[in-house]
Amino acid sequence: MTAPEFDSAAARQAILDRIAAAAKAAGRAAGDVTLVAVSKQQPWERIAPVLAAGQTIFGENRVQEAQTRWAGRRAEQAAPLELRLIGPLQTNKAREALELFDVIETVDRPKLARVLAEEIQRAGRAPRLYVQVNTGEEAQKAGVVPPDADAFIAACRGEHGLAVEGLMCIPPQGEPAGPHFALLARIAARNGVPRLSMGMSADFETAVRFGATSVRVGSALFGSR
Ligand SMILES: *Cc1c(COP(=O)(O)O)cnc(C)c1O
Repeated sequence: MTAPEFDSAAARQAILDRIAAAAKAAGRAAGDVTLVAVSKQQPWERIAPVLAAGQTIFGENRVQEAQTRWAGRRAEQAAPLELRLIGPLQTNKAREALELFDVIETVDRPKLARVLAEEIQRAGRAPRLYVQVNTGEEAQKAGVVPPDADAFIAACRGEHGLAVEGLMCIPPQGEPAGPHFALLARIAARNGVPRLSMGMSADFETAVRFGATSVRVGSALFGSR
């Protein structure tokens, strides 16, 4: 499973260069796009060189796994880390998620919005929040469907008092991603939502072209899981 010869620090630099080139081609500044290093299921030997190279923003899709990987190591880092939850969140894990994550990108249903609002009150500190949109309306995928997105964003803000920093999507496999990124960008624009988390290893340059402010890259950065 492990391939310790994979040079993740070199891979990171190559990805940053590709992000910068894609941004420039789209008339954007390279600094407008944040690389989120998706460290889920990766061995520490691949993560350490990326940390040493200066990467501070990491994405994880499971609360428990992220706690195991990061909770003890956080304090040891020279620069503050930013951890982002990019996988589905069960309401009974909301409190733990709030303790660990700086950003939760997967707010996708009224019950979760309500529980997060309660836990934020209780904790007296709030992570930055993204609403996940199921742009392909896939039955097996999390996220609010596009026809419900405006109302859900309004409810997050109005009913629950949550600030919505961005929108996130995972386009269907085997379909061109561009139309999904464009749809997410339209939903964000008409709701005044400033950030877009979209694009993974296979399509992050396309996402940059469509306005991504952060891309979530795992296997291209760390090697296959
Ligand atoms: C795993 C994962 C990624 C990274 O995928 P790669 O194809 O390995 O870059 C990005 N976003 C989410 C939500 C993921 O679960």
